[in-house]
Amino acid sequence: MQLWFQTWQEVETYLQHAQGIIIPIGSTEQHGPNGLIGTDAICAEQIARGTGELANALVAPTISVGIAGHHMGFAGTMTLAPTTLIRLIGEQVEALAAHGFRSFFFLNGHGGNIATVQAAFAELHAARWRAGLPEVRCKLLSWWECDGVQKLWRELYGDAEGLHATASEVAVTRYLFPEHIKNVPLDPAIAPTSHFYDARDYRRRFPDGRIGSNPALSTPQDGEKLYKAAASGMAEAYRAFLAEPWDGAAV
Ligand SMILES: [Zn+2]
Repeated sequence: MQLWFQTWQEVETYLQHAQGIIIPIGSTEQHGPNGLIGTDAICAEQIARGTGELANALVAPTISVGIAGHHMGFAGTMTLAPTTLIRLIGEQVEALAAHGFRSFFFLNGHGGNIATVQAAFAELHAARWRAGLPEVRCKLLSWWECDGVQKLWRELYGDAEGLHATASEVAVTRYLFPEHIKNVPLDPAIAPTSHFYDARDYRRRFPDGRIGSNPALSTPQDGEKLYKAAASGMAEAYRAFLAEPWDGAAV
């Protein structure tokens, strides 16, 4: 159930029996020669949609630009400063908390967001504690962390999964948007892997943008399996999050 497609009365009714909401968060950044720039936001948004259906949960609009400074050496990448994302998350959670939402499940599509999102949670909790506001809970989980997804990509791609522009995320976008599949030769087939420093260093070490992956292996059929495993794994994690012991009256 997407928040955008409800009326305010429907949201009021939802809040009478539920206080949880799913917030997809991704990134708008290069994903190599055959991966879409929207990959991380598309995966987060679409998997959140499936998760919301399975868990009967509301899904907020996607935070589609994240922390992608290290990809700025490639055209089309957009990024926020970490402090901007921290404020954006804090203000969005506060707006929803004002209506009675208490449990915020951030369904993540980009590893580069993790440190900043955790910092945003720490800022939010500290500010609410100082102000004496009621308890809220925030959880961040990346869709590829589900056991079912991990098992699948190991079977499908093994070492060719990689760390950026991964075979599995490209497969999910190929399943969802087959009209946007790019068939571009990759050389080398499996991209190099190492650490990196800044955007210039990233471009130097990974000239086509991929890290360790061979997304030429990705098929829409794989993407469908990965999408379904992710949606069901995230729905299970969402339900477990809501079921954790809770004392909403504590300040
Ligand atoms: Zn990605």
